[in-house]
Amino acid sequence: MSYKAIYAYAWDLAEAGIETAEREFLELGVDTVTIAGSYHAGKFLRPHGKTGKVYFPDDGTVYFEADRSLYGAIKPVQNGPLGGRDVLRELVERDTLGVNVWLVMLHNTRLGMSHPDAVVRNAFGDPYFYNLCPSSSEARAYAVGLARDVTQNYPVRGISVESPGFAPYAHGYHHEFALMKTNVWLDNMLGLCFCGHCEAAAQKRGIDARRLKAKVVADIDGYLASDVDYPDDMAAAFWTADVATNGDLAAYLAMRREVVTSLVAEIRAAARPDAEVAVIPSVARPTGAAWYEGTDLAALAESPGIIEACFYEPSAARVQADLLDIRRRMNGKGKLRGILRPSHPDIAARGEFLAAVDALREGGVDELAFYNWGHLRPANLGWIAEALRSGR
Ligand SMILES: [Zn+2]
Ligand SMILES: [Zn+2]
Repeated sequence: MSYKAIYAYAWDLAEAGIETAEREFLELGVDTVTIAGSYHAGKFLRPHGKTGKVYFPDDGTVYFEADRSLYGAIKPVQNGPLGGRDVLRELVERDTLGVNVWLVMLHNTRLGMSHPDAVVRNAFGDPYFYNLCPSSSEARAYAVGLARDVTQNYPVRGISVESPGFAPYAHGYHHEFALMKTNVWLDNMLGLCFCGHCEAAAQKRGIDARRLKAKVVADIDGYLASDVDYPDDMAAAFWTADVATNGDLAAYLAMRREVVTSLVAEIRAAARPDAEVAVIPSVARPTGAAWYEGTDLAALAESPGIIEACFYEPSAARVQADLLDIRRRMNGKGKLRGILRPSHPDIAARGEFLAAVDALREGGVDELAFYNWGHLRPANLGWIAEALRSGR
């Protein structure tokens, strides 16, 4: 089955009416709706909102009827504002379009707040409540439970798994603030997780996590105590040098990749066997930077075998560059899907968007998804229809 998908939120479908929304989707030329099944907070501008234009999603909740018996200590929280309306059930029962469920896995501040033993902790022990740690067995049980629940209890065609790994330090938490410049070196040092679960996973592999943690603490402390601001290019070089020359760090980063690869394997094994499992590999740009999150593109290309990559770039040329690199990392294995945003802040001109779609198609990516129905203005939605109609 082909995959030409429009990303969408349950609240937008509920407001528009499923039938109306489906009619619009068919006019776009897509065959699938990829609907958020578990989602985080936000403050979203909705161009075609009827009852309002700005929406604050109910943080960290699921948009389907969860079977709580399928989870461990961390259980999903049911979404409140839709009043128990199960949009996913309505979609699969109508069976007009393929239904794919987009699951935000470990980025869940609500669950992090209520399960502080399972969240990422930096070298100083500070909890990052917005990210359940993939080394935590309870966090893993939650992610695996979501995949099992939604594919076994709903006849969906598949799932797109987002944030199965280690979130970067910079997140866009509301009122995230610092009275100093940041840089990639500092962010990456502050982002490293040294929670008890990660330390145990490292120790099991013979990595001296304590020594690494002490070094990271000393390095960050030294930087914060100084009045130096690393320039961006230097910070990037310093980080590369650390990764290349600090054996503990290199081994620790490799451990993170194993942790995430094995979690995704557990998610694949728990999902209904005939359901597609795709991984959205990274919140970073470009996708090649996904390794920091523990996302191993080569490993995921082998299993589960579908990578749904964000090509969130401002030009077709950059999309092409990103594609060439991702292909290289996938080693000729698996299938690559592409997600595009036909709008600001990526591609604000119609011609450039059509060129980007062409670039993906010429690179052999014919499974395409577009982000996101609720956010896009009608003219930008029109570009999607144009790209798909032309069959280019
Ligand atoms: Zn967030
Ligand atoms: Zn951890």
